[in-house]
Amino acid sequence: MDFSKLNGKIFFQNKFIDSRKAKVHVLNHSLHFASSIFEGIGVYNNKPLFLGEHIDRLFLSADLMRLKVNYPKKKIIEICNKLVRINKIDNGYIRPLIFRSSHSMSPETKNCKSLIAIASWKWGKLFNKSSLSLNISKYPKLNENIYPTQAKSSGSYQISVLERSKIEKTKFDDCLMLDLNKNVAETSACNIFWIKNNIVYTPKKHSILNGVTRRCIIELCLKNKINLKINDYKLKHIMNADSVFMTGTAAEIQVVKNIEKTKYETKSQIIDFLKNKYEILKKQCPYYIKEIRT
Ligand code: PMP
Repeated sequence: MDFSKLNGKIFFQNKFIDSRKAKVHVLNHSLHFASSIFEGIGVYNNKPLFLGEHIDRLFLSADLMRLKVNYPKKKIIEICNKLVRINKIDNGYIRPLIFRSSHSMSPETKNCKSLIAIASWKWGKLFNKSSLSLNISKYPKLNENIYPTQAKSSGSYQISVLERSKIEKTKFDDCLMLDLNKNVAETSACNIFWIKNNIVYTPKKHSILNGVTRRCIIELCLKNKINLKINDYKLKHIMNADSVFMTGTAAEIQVVKNIEKTKYETKSQIIDFLKNKYEILKKQCPYYIKEIRT
């Protein structure tokens, strides 16, 4: 799909305008220096899921990347809800983006204004496959000491984009990235979990994006007394797993069938249980993870 031909409205420059008219100049700072941040929010039955968590993370990302947000949280939430209504998004996605204007063609930002655009579109799940095949990325994920990894910033996606473009014509669907110490980190746009002997494992958050879906799965494990361990794990640990799954707003809970030559069980009672719970949440659409009752 060519997103520049999207129908409906985009909120840009303080108003809801025709999506096709929401344009920026080629000499835009963020296009050259990836100086932008964004969010991705799932919409189910006309309601955004975990909207509060996503807007909080949008503000955290802006703060970490020194971008001003021109509206208070309440107003951004109002705009997101209005977009769902006017674009008639029953099931889809909301994409707020904060970026710098065209007032500098060097990393310097002094004269740049901070701009915000919020789009929404109808969307299904990210992967149209029941299980995925992963390779291992050549480049590692950075950690919090050398990059603000907790920001959902455009800059942090360079390795993801590079690795995804590399596997386009191969049998792999996505890539697993390790951190600088060769611990398991995450995939190009999802967090990763694995199960061994009924224990669920996932990496600590120093070298990953702390996904809203990841936090939701952690909460579901805690609430339902599923044994969960969060730590630093070497590649050997995940290679030895019974089952592997990825989580993300657009991917939801996605089963992995192999990492390179290592194969996994694609049927898992724990994964099925978590998927069922997630389906319930998609109907309830809580605002914050702390509101999960299932
Ligand atoms: N890691 C990366 C690199 C991502 O792009 C995403 C998608 N936002 C995730 C993890 C999952 O985050 P969330 O569950 O908040 O969508």
